[in-house]
Amino acid sequence: MTELRIPLAGVIGSPIAHSKSPQMHQFWLRENGLSGHYVPLHVGADDLEGVLRTLPKMGFVGANVTIPHKERALAIADEVSETAAKIGAANTLVFGADGHIFADNTDAYGFIANLKHGAPQWRASHGAACILGAGGAARAVISALQDEGVDQIYLTNRTQSRAEDLSQEFGGNITVVPWAQAGDVIGDLGVLVNSTSLGMTGKPALEVPLDALQAKTAVTDLVYAPLQTNLLKTASAKGCPTVDGLGMLLHQGVPGFERWFGVRPKVTKALREALLS
Ligand code: NAP
Repeated sequence: MTELRIPLAGVIGSPIAHSKSPQMHQFWLRENGLSGHYVPLHVGADDLEGVLRTLPKMGFVGANVTIPHKERALAIADEVSETAAKIGAANTLVFGADGHIFADNTDAYGFIANLKHGAPQWRASHGAACILGAGGAARAVISALQDEGVDQIYLTNRTQSRAEDLSQEFGGNITVVPWAQAGDVIGDLGVLVNSTSLGMTGKPALEVPLDALQAKTAVTDLVYAPLQTNLLKTASAKGCPTVDGLGMLLHQGVPGFERWFGVRPKVTKALREALLS
């Protein structure tokens, strides 16, 4: 008789104790009455490949990958989605029964699903986007906004060369704006995105001048600690629709959960409250 195996998944990173993913996936497993487990897995860089080749043999159906393994996991995978290849990093792995590793990136999906959910009136046709930051998260944001059809993106970053590299790599209509002049492009936007770590608890404040920001601009911050960043508070006081970063984290988890456990989970107020408590 074949033993029925309980599907296992987890999040691989270093450090990993702070991750909200185990709480989120366990919430969805319970909510949907599914048997399965989702665990934090602290894995060092030297062990990543060995761990990824071993997990499927132990009943793991997949995993999320976080800092610092997102690029390496992409390189190790046997098959890579178009989105993950474009972003240059993997955050969601699906394991075949034979150990085959499929790598995807759901950060772009998480970003856009969160923006649409939090600012339902926003449309790509509403005008240019301005992205603050050119790190790993900015790559997912650019990919998502380009796929959505935003035809002008202003990209600004403290280290300008990183923004220029991204502009070259992603192509399309990306204009690199010097960091000191970020405030100059803020006056006529469909959406403003903070993808830097500025404004996060323990990090310096985001000091881009927001005087020109108009009420029509949707403003979203990828930082979610604190949930209401100073950027979102200022934007809200100007009448802008604002979207916090926690939703991106929640939405990016949806496709992985569906692939591993067979049910498309919902991002609800109850889930948010569970994660914030
Ligand atoms: P990253 O690759 O390390 O990039 C950090 C970005 O912040 C870079 O653009 C960097 O500019 C900028 N930055 C850092 N310190 C700065 C300073 N003192 N002054 C000006 N710019 C500064 O990190 P990441 O993965 O892109 O993540 C960025 C933020 O997004 C983090 O807060 C992360 O937690 C958040 N995030 C949230 C989600 C979500 O689901 N909500 C998902 C992914 C990331 P330089 O290039 O000049 O260093």
